[in-house]
Amino acid sequence: MTAFRWRAQARSGRARAGFLDTAHGTVATPTFMPVGTVGTVKAMTMDAVRSTGAGIVLGNTYHLMLRPGAERVRALGGLHRFMDWPGPILTDSGGFQVMSLGPLRKLDADGVTFRSHIDGSKHRLTPERSTDIQHALDATISMCFDECPALPAPPEVIAQSMRMSMRWAERCRTAFVARPGYAQYGIIQGGTEPDLRAESVRALTDIGFEGYAIGGLAVGEGQELMFSTLDVTVGLIPDDAPRYLMGVGTPDDLLGAVERGVDMFDCVMPTRAGRTARAYTERGTLNLRNARHATDSRPISPHCDCLACSRHSRAYLHHLFRANEILGPMLLTWHNLAYYQRLMRGIRAAIVDGTLPEHAAHLRAQWAMEDWSPDEMPFPDIPPVP
Ligand SMILES: [Zn+2]
Repeated sequence: MTAFRWRAQARSGRARAGFLDTAHGTVATPTFMPVGTVGTVKAMTMDAVRSTGAGIVLGNTYHLMLRPGAERVRALGGLHRFMDWPGPILTDSGGFQVMSLGPLRKLDADGVTFRSHIDGSKHRLTPERSTDIQHALDATISMCFDECPALPAPPEVIAQSMRMSMRWAERCRTAFVARPGYAQYGIIQGGTEPDLRAESVRALTDIGFEGYAIGGLAVGEGQELMFSTLDVTVGLIPDDAPRYLMGVGTPDDLLGAVERGVDMFDCVMPTRAGRTARAYTERGTLNLRNARHATDSRPISPHCDCLACSRHSRAYLHHLFRANEILGPMLLTWHNLAYYQRLMRGIRAAIVDGTLPEHAAHLRAQWAMEDWSPDEMPFPDIPPVP
């Protein structure tokens, strides 16, 4: 049986390249996890997700507990079999979604009672119940059930919330059934207050988890505060544990966080953008609904081997979105996930080669440029990212 562990391969400053060994296979880090909210990465077949190079996907406890229900997924062989993803799956705890329900939820010291956004039925999540559900789903990596206050908030509100999350983390750990190759991550809270972040790391490392997540960021504080919070938080996490920055982010966020020592990411941005005609490229984003793409015979990116870029023009994708054809979101989600995976592979390769500073400067210079002009075809100045 494979033991769950993260092992380093190379370092550049605080950035790390490594491998995450799990019961469901090994993942190269740093890694981006596509979000498979209800047991599907929206608009993608699992073969398409695999083809982008994704090594691990995310599932949502809140959505799956409501529909089809955790016990049904367990009876059907677990989430891996149910969604045809034999690789590692990380499930969130449901906390973030439940806390976002606003008037539909009631928080107490023991857990949260809430009404389903689907049919209004009443449900309850506690640290124990969330952990049990993630076990029933057969999550490779389970997350602690926690509370994340919206920022900005007064320090005393953030402190109180963080301390409750730390008490809940202890209950999650007690409820977790340890198995070889499986993991549970504690979630560091504390807003943008360095002292509270440090207190949170101490509380979680005293309990002891296989990995640590940085929660409560990318909730409106801005990139500068997010990076300064990572600067004071990531170095406190044990060096041999994987570090996961939850719900982040833009390509620029990912690069800056990897430089600060983060190994794992998830975000709805590439998939959500793919459904709204927004394409990620080496030179920023394009809105394919824009009329300027209507007669453009070039691919979205000459460096992308996804189905959209290898077979179709910007003009065709523009047409699909204008005609509200379902193939538009399918092709563009594929492209955006391929871009995110290529971005992470390039960053990882640069850490291994010892060229991260140069690679990062190159990426940032490209993002600062405008989209390619038609006479730049075939884009001789941009080396393909491996
Ligand atoms: Zn593409």
